[in-house]
Amino acid sequence: MQTTSIQYLKGIGPQRAKSFTARGVQTIEELLYYFPRRYEDRRNFAKISELNESQVYTIKAQILSAGQRNWRRRSAFSITEAAVGDNTGKISCIWFNQPYLKEYLIAGACVILYGKVERYNSRLQMSNPEFEFLDNQDNDSLNIGRIVPVYTLPQGFSQRGLRCIIKNALDEFLPKINDPLPFDLRSRHHLLNLAQSLLNIHFPQDLSLQQQAHTRLSFEEFFLFQLPLVLRKLNRKEKIGISHLVSGRLIEDFISGLPFQLTAAQQKVLAEIKADMASSQAMQRLLQGDVGSGKTVVAAIACLAAIQSAHQAAFMAPTEILARQHYEKISSQLEQLTFNGRKLRLALLVGQDKQKQKIYQKIKEGEIDLVIGTHALLQEELSFKSLSFIVIDEQHKFGVGQRALLPKKGNNPDVLIMTATPIPRTLAITLYGDLDISVINQLPPGRIPIKTLQFNQEDRNKAYALVKQELNYGRQAYIIYPVIEESYALDIAGAKKMFGELKAGEFKEFRLGLIHGKLKTREQNEVMLKFKNKQLDLLVATTILEVGIDIPNATCMIIASAQRFGLSQLHQLRGRIGRGNLQSLCILISDSQTPESKARLAAMVASGDGFYIAEEDLKIRGPGEFFGNRQHGLAELKIANPLIQMQLLKAARDEAISLINQDARLEERPHQLLKAKLFQRFPEYEKLMLVG
Ligand code: ADP
Ligand code: MG
Repeated sequence: MQTTSIQYLKGIGPQRAKSFTARGVQTIEELLYYFPRRYEDRRNFAKISELNESQVYTIKAQILSAGQRNWRRRSAFSITEAAVGDNTGKISCIWFNQPYLKEYLIAGACVILYGKVERYNSRLQMSNPEFEFLDNQDNDSLNIGRIVPVYTLPQGFSQRGLRCIIKNALDEFLPKINDPLPFDLRSRHHLLNLAQSLLNIHFPQDLSLQQQAHTRLSFEEFFLFQLPLVLRKLNRKEKIGISHLVSGRLIEDFISGLPFQLTAAQQKVLAEIKADMASSQAMQRLLQGDVGSGKTVVAAIACLAAIQSAHQAAFMAPTEILARQHYEKISSQLEQLTFNGRKLRLALLVGQDKQKQKIYQKIKEGEIDLVIGTHALLQEELSFKSLSFIVIDEQHKFGVGQRALLPKKGNNPDVLIMTATPIPRTLAITLYGDLDISVINQLPPGRIPIKTLQFNQEDRNKAYALVKQELNYGRQAYIIYPVIEESYALDIAGAKKMFGELKAGEFKEFRLGLIHGKLKTREQNEVMLKFKNKQLDLLVATTILEVGIDIPNATCMIIASAQRFGLSQLHQLRGRIGRGNLQSLCILISDSQTPESKARLAAMVASGDGFYIAEEDLKIRGPGEFFGNRQHGLAELKIANPLIQMQLLKAARDEAISLINQDARLEERPHQLLKAKLFQRFPEYEKLMLVG
């Protein structure tokens, strides 16, 4: 029954089936898993005479009168207004810019309204309430006198129509439904069975059962999400990889030649990586660390372990600018080192390189020890003599598929994945459940926290003045714009035009550069080089600077139209300054008043801690958005929220581990339904099992 198309249900024809498809629902099972967006308790309605300001209510009332007016004379902005009343009082309801409502709001009709009560001109009113007409039938038991589900409506459906379709589907199919979660697991965690849960998630008998249904269905999502991760990890541990030589002169010489001491956190993480590399199991380790915590040098040391074991290493970065920067920095750090009586051989591999064929050849013949590059490393023609270690920098910039490509060029090489968007440890362990995790939880000593200020657009000259002061001390600065060309529609300034304006005006006594994604890579590199060599004072840029750029003399950053950026992105951008031991200053310019952008900017001003920022970002955006579609099956979580239900997530993960340990291929009888469900959800799971 699960896979039967919803077209066969009463009330759904081809047209409506199509609009459901747009919401990811094609089968009856998917329909049963199409959960309400919220509920209305229609067992008792609020009395109009008892409504309070700024609270949300459901009321049942009669329309007394309705009308429509324009907001201002000749303005296109319309207001529809209805006065409604019950036997205790009256209240006015208004809707903005929905002129078609007028036709529906007929005096005498009975409605249920849901919305927030506000005070306007000393009177209470509901603005933009959601509403539903009542049938004048006494037996409307789906829509009244109970806790009623409210759905996100596919096109062409009404709440009442959809409730009816879902109720019929539940009545018909729940008696036949089997629970994929094994009985003993369910009883260990006191989970409701599937039929009860589906019934109560749609039409809760009471709030406590709705809660239990929610818990059970969330557990199920987490559990199904964990199983493939846990199995992947197990499969990997069974694979034989390369056992590296991790202590030795090369590494020691390198560390003692560094102009600084490794921090305790760097040393701890390095020890974890070394232990993995020494073992013959293939490593898949996630290295989390805030911007500027010094991940690169740790990765470079790990590369040396590969080289001194007579293998090759590859280091992949998401942009050419970053790949170049890593190449230059690591080359200079390795310059003095020798191994087996020769210098180390590094190569840079980026998109448009004319030397590409030559470099390929050398890598293939083992004449390159370490290659640093962009996506160019993924090209099919590239093969290695003996690739044993891989670094993937700023992993969130790569898709899951891309990340999997590079390791195929070696024989179960060790992989180190780095990210500067750290998330809380419990969350990381569960979400990146197939990886081992290391954290650098400390910045190098001597770093002074970046000062972050927020200015209104009209005060931007004050921001410029502060930056000029810094430039006069011989420091450098960035000004970031969200777009290259300005947008009149959105009222945001573009980098190109502002570059011209600032150069001719506010900053005319300074040397300005402009960098953005539409420049040729060669031009980008030239600008970066000039900035690095202090031939430029101020760099006007777009988010092309978001990741990795490391120029310690740059101590100032202005971010224009700051509300246009996500929180993690703002933090990454800010991470371009404060990289030396000078006081740095970041100025966010924004007039935005939306609660969400205010929350983001406030978090930036309040904290420089990447873990805190990531947590706030997760809260503001929710996990699906935060991790993004490309990154994670997480975006597919419909009901579970790993932020709020961390305990449940942990329990689901523990159960997944014990199940995989006991019956990795889910061959035992009580696991058959579960296996079927997994294959259906994650078709690639079948392959995973075969590998194991
Ligand atoms: P990220 O973690 O953001 O990739 P980087 O590896 O680019 O950070 O390091 C930031 C800067 O700090 C670099 O200039 C690097 O040379 C320097 N650095 C790294 N480790 C230390 C340390 N232990 N002490 C002082 N400076 C360090
Ligand atoms: Mg980095």
